[in-house]
Amino acid sequence: MIYSHSRLSSFEQCPLKFKYRYLDKIEPKVQQSVEAFMGSMVHNTLEKLYKDVKFKKENSVEEVIEYYNKLWKEGWSDSIRIVRKEYKEENFRKMGEQYLRDYYKRYYPFTDGKIIGIEKKIMISLDKKGGYQLQGFIDRLMSTGDGEYEIHDYKTNIEVPQVEYLKKDRQLALYAIAIIEKYQDAKNVKLIWHFLSGNKEIVIEKTDEELEKLRKDMIELIDKVESEKEFKQKVSALCNWCEFRDICPEWKHMVKTENLEPNKFLEDSGVELVNKYAKLNDEKKEIVEKIDKELEQIKEAIVKFCEREKVNSLNGSDYIARLWAKYVAKFPGKNDEKRKIINNILKDNNLWDELSELDAFKLSRIYDTLPPEVIKKLDEFKKMEMIERVYLRKKNSWQTP
Ligand code: SF4
Repeated sequence: MIYSHSRLSSFEQCPLKFKYRYLDKIEPKVQQSVEAFMGSMVHNTLEKLYKDVKFKKENSVEEVIEYYNKLWKEGWSDSIRIVRKEYKEENFRKMGEQYLRDYYKRYYPFTDGKIIGIEKKIMISLDKKGGYQLQGFIDRLMSTGDGEYEIHDYKTNIEVPQVEYLKKDRQLALYAIAIIEKYQDAKNVKLIWHFLSGNKEIVIEKTDEELEKLRKDMIELIDKVESEKEFKQKVSALCNWCEFRDICPEWKHMVKTENLEPNKFLEDSGVELVNKYAKLNDEKKEIVEKIDKELEQIKEAIVKFCEREKVNSLNGSDYIARLWAKYVAKFPGKNDEKRKIINNILKDNNLWDELSELDAFKLSRIYDTLPPEVIKKLDEFKKMEMIERVYLRKKNSWQTP
């Protein structure tokens, strides 16, 4: 298989989606999302704009927008999915239009540097033998002279990510590896993202060490893909945009039933089973809560009875109830500020390994066995609480009245 950064990312995002798309080569029934459609219309328009610049043909902003709208009209189909139901096709078309207007205004006359390639296909060799190769397409490759190259990438994401996030991005860094190998004069390669929604340009440069590490990481990732056997689904928020929801085991039933009329929906045997199960589960919870409440009340009555009669065990028909009552030391819970002080006392007295992360229950159990100097320090954090439990024991034949 020829790998690309997007193929490998798709594997990381969800191995099952990767399998459907690249191994089984399943043609999805649903089309792309409106966000992906808008992204490709904007990309195609910018591709044409820069191609014309290369051929010394100038376009006015209105000509650029006209081209974009023509592409939109020709490419639009009602099967394109709009996940954010509160918005319509027109909202997304207008968004793309605004991105292009802002971009035009900012970069006109588009003559900074020499255009080396537009939608330029590159092969990236990750190892010397050429056993690990990736294919990629650079939106626009520029040379600004003296061995300086720029890799430009247009993004139509609604949110502009933080620089820290982009520093971890691999796609453009992989392209940089290819440019350094392909162009002998390449001394410096800038990675430039154009986030069109915010009209922001973000520039990052990578060190040789970072690129070397990236090569190794990608080889490891390819090895992982090659040895994968299971291709399990990985559910995430991105499932909403996945084109295989209608065959994915996690979503298939949802897709099948989500648009049914209410009566048809309720007739579906899967829906019926879930509703029955949920109803019984709720009923069970209610019953358990009720019984727990009653048990607590009876336990309190047993405790009082035992205190009054000065006994520890009570006789029943089949069982004997035995009361267990003890004062135990209680310590502040996880979110209590005092917890840090207790942790330090335990660490200073070499008790941390034994109690690891402060386990208040364990501490109260071994409290009396701790060295006296530790007990003295911990005493101020301790609260004594009475714990009362009732244990039932089945009667033996000799105990039966
Ligand atoms: S819907 Fe989600 S879990 Fe299913 S294949 Fe697509 S991404 Fe994976």
